[in-house]
Amino acid sequence: MKESRKNHIRPIVLSGLLAMAVLIFAVGGWAVLYKNNLPAPVKQDLAPVAANSGQLQTKPGSSWNAGVYSPNRLSQAAGKVMAPRMVITPAKAAVKAEAAVSKNNAQNHLPAPNKHKTVYLTFDDGPSKITSKVLEILRQQGVKATFFVLGEQARQRPELINAIWEQGHSIGNHTYNHNYHDLYSGFTEFWSQIKQTEEIVRNITGVRPQLIRAPGGTFGHFDQTYFHLLKQAGYSVMDWTVDSGDSRRKGVPAADILKESVADMNASRVILLLHDGGGHEQSAKALPEIIQRYKSAGYAFGVLDAEMQPVQFRVSDAAAKASRNGPSRDWIAANIAPNRELFTSGKALALEVGLLETKLLPGEYSISEGQYRVPLRAVVERLGGRVNWDSASRTGKVVWNGRAIIADAARKQLTITGADGRQQVRSADVQMIGSSLWVSLRGLLEAAGHAPLTTAVTIDERRVKTL
Ligand SMILES: [Zn+2]
Repeated sequence: MKESRKNHIRPIVLSGLLAMAVLIFAVGGWAVLYKNNLPAPVKQDLAPVAANSGQLQTKPGSSWNAGVYSPNRLSQAAGKVMAPRMVITPAKAAVKAEAAVSKNNAQNHLPAPNKHKTVYLTFDDGPSKITSKVLEILRQQGVKATFFVLGEQARQRPELINAIWEQGHSIGNHTYNHNYHDLYSGFTEFWSQIKQTEEIVRNITGVRPQLIRAPGGTFGHFDQTYFHLLKQAGYSVMDWTVDSGDSRRKGVPAADILKESVADMNASRVILLLHDGGGHEQSAKALPEIIQRYKSAGYAFGVLDAEMQPVQFRVSDAAAKASRNGPSRDWIAANIAPNRELFTSGKALALEVGLLETKLLPGEYSISEGQYRVPLRAVVERLGGRVNWDSASRTGKVVWNGRAIIADAARKQLTITGADGRQQVRSADVQMIGSSLWVSLRGLLEAAGHAPLTTAVTIDERRVKTL
């Protein structure tokens, strides 16, 4: 009996070993293939990865409202038809390959593979009068999306930017005017539109968009300079994996938009291109059913962020060869590296006021023209004062250190009432950002009788002390 059991066990062990060998060979071979698809030498992060191209059947989008872009002309100029592909950073590709290997292994042992699928709905060219409708649908459906907004539109409709933000959607930068001729004539023009739009959005929400989507997509437009400098400056450029086709021409019917939007329901990650710019009523009309289909297919709905691995089309030959004025070394030194600090200033700001101390984390404060700018309520309340928002006068009423201070964003002033009842009005840079009042830290501390200050910056933190 023992013998026969042994005989049974041996083939099982052998076949197990054989299976492992096959698996190792398959995985190893695949990993080699995968590796070979990366360029050698690896100089930058824009290598096409064939392993991923299967799920990316999209063609570069064209916007009928910009009118310059012609995919056909572009393809002819390049001498062959080019399809955009997902590109991944080599370092991350290796990580991804490892993750895939361990997932394959896991799948061989676990009975139920963990199918995790996420769709990222993205809306470009807004905000417009369509945006409210889109927001309403997203709210009803209980899903979040990402809006790549135009500075020109945002400036005219700040209330919609605020509504997008307050509903918990993500906001990305889609340049200021969407004009291909301006944007793709040289990097510095693209850059100035990014910064212009960033400032408009920051003034509304208090946050700088770190995600960028190139008008018309990067394909045929971006060269290595665009990709490289934007990355160095701290931005994440995001194309898409599925084009709804809603901007292929004017008035694409909702049925067609739906059909193209749900064409591939097998991909684990879908970044769906839609539009909420003016004239895109059909996109809003198709949206509820698009969401339903993805829900039925088991997708979660995500918002894009700058930390995730970007989807980027490759550089077309035409874009690589286009003669454009590259920025000078001096310009790059003056603009690109300092910009990165905006997103990576990992230092907390410590405030010492009397015996109390608090820390504002990176992102909780900003530095503008050499001055710290802070949210009024957070600072005052953490340091022992009180702030009440007066909605009638739209002012913040501070009681702190025996003084009453009224912060008025409309008049840009602080009205200070001392313990003796004497009143003093000072002009101050008070700003309403989203639903918060922000003030210059120096102005606030001086008004509260906590000046003078000493400031220090160490490798770990920034510190402001009042005496
Ligand atoms: Zn666009």
